[in-house]
Amino acid sequence: MRDSRQQARQRTLTALREELGDQVWVADNDREPFLREWRGRYHGNAAAVLCPGRTDQVALILQRCHQAGIAVVPQGGNTGLVGGAAPDASGEQIILSLCRMNRIRELDTENQTLTAEAGCVLADLQAAAADADCLFPLSLASEGSCQIGGNLASNAGGTNVLHYGNARELTLGLEVVLADGRVWQGLKALRKDNSGYSLKDLFIGSEGTLGIITAAVLRLFPAIRHRATSLLAIASPEHAITLLPLLREHGGDQLTACELMSRNSLLMATEHVAGCRDPFDAPHPWYLLVELSSSGNTAPTDLLTTALADANDRLLLRDAVLAQSLEQASALWRLRESIPEGQVRHGASIKHDISLPVSRLPAFLKQASQALEAQIPGIRLCPFGHVGDGNLHYNLSQPTGMDRAAFMDHEPDCNRLVFDLVHTLGGSIAAEHGVGQLRRQSLLEYKDPVELELMNAVKQALDPQGLLNPGKVI
Ligand SMILES: Cc1cc2nc3c(=O)[nH]c(=O)nc-3n(C[C@H](O)[C@H](O)[C@H](O)COP(=O)(O)OP(=O)(O)OC[C@H]3O[C@@H](n4cnc5c(N)ncnc54)[C@H](O)[C@@H]3O)c2cc1C
Repeated sequence: MRDSRQQARQRTLTALREELGDQVWVADNDREPFLREWRGRYHGNAAAVLCPGRTDQVALILQRCHQAGIAVVPQGGNTGLVGGAAPDASGEQIILSLCRMNRIRELDTENQTLTAEAGCVLADLQAAAADADCLFPLSLASEGSCQIGGNLASNAGGTNVLHYGNARELTLGLEVVLADGRVWQGLKALRKDNSGYSLKDLFIGSEGTLGIITAAVLRLFPAIRHRATSLLAIASPEHAITLLPLLREHGGDQLTACELMSRNSLLMATEHVAGCRDPFDAPHPWYLLVELSSSGNTAPTDLLTTALADANDRLLLRDAVLAQSLEQASALWRLRESIPEGQVRHGASIKHDISLPVSRLPAFLKQASQALEAQIPGIRLCPFGHVGDGNLHYNLSQPTGMDRAAFMDHEPDCNRLVFDLVHTLGGSIAAEHGVGQLRRQSLLEYKDPVELELMNAVKQALDPQGLLNPGKVI
C-alpha cells in the first residue's frame, strides 16, 4: 500500500518535472537550506523542492498534488521562527518555494500601491518604494531575507506597527492559488470594498494552510524625510506605559516606534555583538527606544525634545540620549536589533512571542519574573519588544554555568507558567511570529473552543484533504 502510494507520488512528480522543466526543480545537492529552519530547531525531508516562476506553474503543481494526495509546504525566505516552513521527516511532502516569483508587477504612485509577487524580498520592496519617493513601512530585522509572501502568510509585525499596522493593514488585494489549483484573482487596489466576506483576511496570517499567496497589492505611504531617535533609560515597565501616552500627546501620529528593552537584553547585544555599545555611563534597569518620523518639511526633533523635557519634569526618566546623526540613530537601532543574535551567542534560550493589553504588561512582567526566578535560580530574563503594540519577546536565557540541555528541560514548565499568565491577563500566546509547529499544541489549550471549531471549518472548506502545510497551526 505504502509502496503504491510512493510510486503514485513519484509518477506525479516525474510528469510534473516534464511539464515544468528542470529549472523549476532544485537539485538534490542544493536542497539542504530548504529543509532546515534557520535556527536549526526544525529539520525535515522532502520528496522534491520546487521553485516555480509563474502563477500558472504554481496552479499546475497544486492541481497535480491535489489529484495525487501530495502534501505541499510553502516556503518564503525561511526566516520564520516557529517551524512553519519546514517539512516533516517523512520525505513525502514537497516544498514549494516562491523564491523565483520575485517580480514587481506594478508601482502606481497615483494610487500609492505596489503590486509584487510573493517571492520579492522585503528589503527589495522597501528599496523600490524609496526609489519612487514612497515608503513601504513593513520593517523587520530579517528584511534582507524574508519575502513578502512569507510576511503576509505570517501577518508579520515588526518595528513600525505602532503607526502603520501589521502586514494585514498594509495589504489591499491578493492573488492566491487554492488547494485544488484554482486561482483566486483578488489583486484589487481598493481602499473600500464591502462586497462580501474579506477573503484576503483569511489568507493573511494563515501560514500556508489555506492557500498559496502568489502576489499582493500593497499600500504605499509618503516617504519619510526626517526622523528623531532617542534611547531613554527608565526605572520600570510602569514608566514605559506612562511614557507612551505622553509621547503620543507630544508626537501625535509622528510616533512610529516605541521599543522596550530590559537591562539583560541590552547586555546580550553589548556583550556578544561587535559594534554594540551602551551609550550611557551607568547601568539602568530598562530602556525605551523611541522614534518620531515625519514626511513633511519639518524635523520632529523639537517635538521629541519637548516630550523628553516633559517626561523629565514628571520624573519618568533616569537618563536619555538623542541621536544627533543618522549614524547615531542606526547605532541605537543596532542595539535593539542585535538582541536575538546576542542571545544565540550567549547560550540556550526559551522564547515566547506574546501580546497583552498594553496596560497589563507591567503586571505580567512582575508576576512572570517572580515565578521564573523562584523556579530556576540564576535564570537571565531578557524581555524586549514592541511595547507600543503590547508585544513582548519574553525570552529566557540560561543561567551562567548551567548545562544547556538541563536548562532546556525546563521549557515545558516555563511555557506553561508564561502562557497561563498571559491567558489569565487576556493576552495571546502567538503575537507576531505565528503558530507554525512550535505553538500548535498550546493553541489547542488556550484558544477559545468555538474559535477552534470555526478555524477547523474554514480549513475543511478550503483544504478538505489537508494537503496544505499539514501539521502547522491546526
Ligand atoms: C532576526 C529575525 C528577526 C525577526 N523579527 C521579526 C519581527 O520583528 N516581526 C515579525 O513578525 N517577525 C519577525 N521575524 C520572523 C520572520 O522573519 C517573519 O515571520 C517573516 O514574515 C517570515 O517571512 P519568510 O518569507 O521568511 O517566511 P517563511 O519562514 O518562509 O514562512 C513563514 C510561514 O508562511 C508560509 N508561507 C511562506 N510563503 C508563503 C506563500 N507565498 N503563501 C502561503 N504561505 C507561505 C510558510 O509555510 C510558513 O508557514 C524575525 C525573524 C528573524 C530571523
